[in-house]
Amino acid sequence: MKVRKIAANAVAFSYENIEDFVTNVFLVETPSKFFVIDTYCGSDAMKPVLERINHSSKNKEIIVINSHFHWDHVWGNASFIGKDIISHEICRKFLDEQWEKQMEHNRQYILGRAEKQLPNITFKEKIIFYDEGIELFYSPGHTIDSISLFDHNEKVLYAGDNLEKPIIYVENNDIKTYIKSLKNYLNYKPKKIVAGHSLDLKEEDIFSAIEYLKGLSEGRKFTFKTDYERKIHYQNISMINKK
Ligand SMILES: [Zn+2]
Repeated sequence: MKVRKIAANAVAFSYENIEDFVTNVFLVETPSKFFVIDTYCGSDAMKPVLERINHSSKNKEIIVINSHFHWDHVWGNASFIGKDIISHEICRKFLDEQWEKQMEHNRQYILGRAEKQLPNITFKEKIIFYDEGIELFYSPGHTIDSISLFDHNEKVLYAGDNLEKPIIYVENNDIKTYIKSLKNYLNYKPKKIVAGHSLDLKEEDIFSAIEYLKGLSEGRKFTFKTDYERKIHYQNISMINKK
């Protein structure tokens, strides 16, 4: 696991326990709160995050965000019992229905404890923490329950799994909605963009994701450099053809 500073008020914890993927958890510190964006694969993964929080300040409120329902972003929720955990309302529903199933299928990736701990606060469109300059908003795309966070002070966009390099992962066949969410990102004019599996994204990565999705829906032919990209591309094709 590596810790990197990504903004004046934020660090990324990057984990490499899952093959093919680096997965990021973000910690944003504001004057009165810590925002923990995603909780990776269990309580052991959350130890360094909690250590950093305790080292910095024991008095600030901790707010946990689940960007979407996928297991590699939520299994550490159990480390935050008694704290507020926020997600989209669909995310909470999916987690309630699929927590055990996701654990069965990916058991080898559990780090420490990963028992079911659902979000206790949900929303439909957005939640704004005005004093902190933090906005959470609905951004369906990679999955139908995906949310994103924008830090208005630092102009950093936390895009969940909606953006990913070298190729985005489409797990929901509503491509029009995905493109709409990506176009909406541009309205925020982010200075920095980070995501669940990629750091250092730029506005041009939003444009190329939009182009890719358009091509995908039109059945355009793509060429890729790596087997990994081809594999994900074929999965994306079969996903959008699912009725
Ligand atoms: Zn995901």
